[in-house]
Amino acid sequence: MLLLPKFDYEEPKSLPEALAMLSELKGNGKVIAGGTDLLVNMKKGTVKPAFLVSLKKVEGLREIAGKNGGLSVGSHVTVSEIAGSDRVISSFPVLARSASCLGSPLIRNRATIGGNIVTARPAADLPPALIILGAEVELKGKDKARTVPLDGFFRGPGSSVIENGEVLTQIILPSAPPFTGGDYIKLGHRAALEIAIVAVASRLTLDKPDGVIVDARIVLSAVAPTAIHAVSAEKTLMGQRPSEELFAKAASLAVGDCSPITDIRGGAEYRRDMVNTLVKRTLLKALSDARDMKGGNA
Ligand SMILES: Cc1cc2nc3c(=O)[nH]c(=O)nc-3n(C[C@H](O)[C@H](O)[C@H](O)COP(=O)(O)OP(=O)(O)OC[C@H]3O[C@@H](n4cnc5c(N)ncnc54)[C@H](O)[C@@H]3O)c2cc1C
Repeated sequence: MLLLPKFDYEEPKSLPEALAMLSELKGNGKVIAGGTDLLVNMKKGTVKPAFLVSLKKVEGLREIAGKNGGLSVGSHVTVSEIAGSDRVISSFPVLARSASCLGSPLIRNRATIGGNIVTARPAADLPPALIILGAEVELKGKDKARTVPLDGFFRGPGSSVIENGEVLTQIILPSAPPFTGGDYIKLGHRAALEIAIVAVASRLTLDKPDGVIVDARIVLSAVAPTAIHAVSAEKTLMGQRPSEELFAKAASLAVGDCSPITDIRGGAEYRRDMVNTLVKRTLLKALSDARDMKGGNA
């Protein structure tokens, strides 16, 4: 049985207190949120922090609130709170859908949105949905604060632009234009407790319900070192009248946009086939939602 190594642990009650601790620890400390990723990695010995700074009691990181017509989500909001939030379900159903795909009820009750982002797994469930929604993340250090687009946050497996001593405090989702719809589909071997073999998030915006596509976003997960845009598929959709033929063309272009590997969860060829299938399916659902939702949410 793998045992946790020894470490010190603090539960600061405010963000300035947490940031001061992290700054003093100079890279020897790590933030812990739900611990569903970090504690597993500490048991495996792949990370060995001497000190853990918990965000559990830090005020102000657990709210889901309206912001400029969109939403702000505190980094310590759990995945199950996102999946069950009326506000998220009605404004950003794609995010609620991706949250309900993560892990199992037990994991979702502990896992946080901030942890799912900062852990930077290539197959993490929330980042593809958040990227198509145009999310930005707020990062705070002891003496600085910055807001960066999630698109561009990830550098590679386990690696992102977040610096030592910084805490991800909130995720900001801008309001969606009218006639926008989206979808997220995750393919795994089992219905629960499964890391994605392939996952796809797509979003379409039309100029009017029976009009042309004015914005197209397709993000592929688990087929490259980070979640990536299917750039040529997105380009081919822009300005076009939606149809099954157009979506089939976009799906086959998306296959060329990714670079999957073969591992124990699936072969590269299988993953390419699934990208083709899931891109088509997500685009069809996105189109149907875009036509229905006159208020315009994704
Ligand atoms: C059995 C099991 C099944 C799983 N299934 C899935 C799945 O289906 N899909 C999926 O995407 N993931 C899955 N995971 C992985 C994990 O549950 C998620 O990535 C989860 O969202 C991590 O959040 P956390 O709050 O537990 O992060 P933690 O483990 O606490 O932290 C993860 C990393 O992020 C850092 N961190 C956390 N919060 C912040 C913050 N606010 N600011 C700065 N740094 C921060 C920590 O220092 C650490 O490096 C699974 C894990 C397990 C154990």
